[in-house]
Amino acid sequence: MRDPFYGNKSRKLEGSRELTVHYASNSIMGWLTAKPEEQTMAEEPFSVKQVHDNVYMFRENFYDSPNQANIWLVQGSTADLVIDTGIGLWDLPGFLEQQRLIGDKPVTAVATHIHFDHSGGLHQFQNFAIHSLEANAIREGDNYETVSIFTSCLAEISVPPYDGWNTRDYRVKAAEPTKVLEEDDVFDLGDRKLRVLHFPGHTHGSIGLIDEQARILFTGDTMYNHPFIIDWLPHSNITAYKQTCRRLQELSSQVDHVFPGHMDLFDGNRLQLLVPDRLHL
Ligand SMILES: [Zn+2]
Ligand SMILES: [Zn+2]
Repeated sequence: MRDPFYGNKSRKLEGSRELTVHYASNSIMGWLTAKPEEQTMAEEPFSVKQVHDNVYMFRENFYDSPNQANIWLVQGSTADLVIDTGIGLWDLPGFLEQQRLIGDKPVTAVATHIHFDHSGGLHQFQNFAIHSLEANAIREGDNYETVSIFTSCLAEISVPPYDGWNTRDYRVKAAEPTKVLEEDDVFDLGDRKLRVLHFPGHTHGSIGLIDEQARILFTGDTMYNHPFIIDWLPHSNITAYKQTCRRLQELSSQVDHVFPGHMDLFDGNRLQLLVPDRLHL
């Protein structure tokens, strides 16, 4: 079902195309801003919380927005994987190294999809991956497809990256992916593997990542722990979204932990309950 709390507001993005942006009302803000019990280090740009064996969740402390996304680190025996990268205004790899969470193995970043709250920090990584359908958008730093919008201007950035920074300066930095993904590609981290699942709907190149052995699924913006979806952005497609939901329904019995793009994590049983709502779009 579509969320009844959303209203419409139009905003002109760079270029000629008009994009309708739906802003969440106050009644839903509590869901969106609900923070996990992370180990907060207020002076640091990121908060961190360990959520599973060798899996960590991060949030951007200085992006004070209901759109604040989750960033994940999965550590393997021979390589590490960063899943989603935030808006990219603060040095994510530098923070991870400083915390000694990466640095002794090769690290790759991957975006679950092209939106700026997930792809903004890709350019900070030497190696990063994105689905083939969204590779050109990151190559070009496409402001339309990345949906680079700050909903309340500077107030969302509590600590700007430099003096004089302004939201108008923001865009996702163009960068060349070192790996372009398709369904069934695998990130081999040594003792664990994450398989790419193409989840079109929210965007056409959205992906999920599954660690079948650990029974963990990363869903990006395809599924949150809340019965609403976002299916009205560039390259959103409701028909594709429904097909992806059917797929998620099949997957729900294979996973114990769902790590979404926003809000808190949930389990496979909850996933099973959440999916039917979306099949009646
Ligand atoms: Zn998104
Ligand atoms: Zn998002």
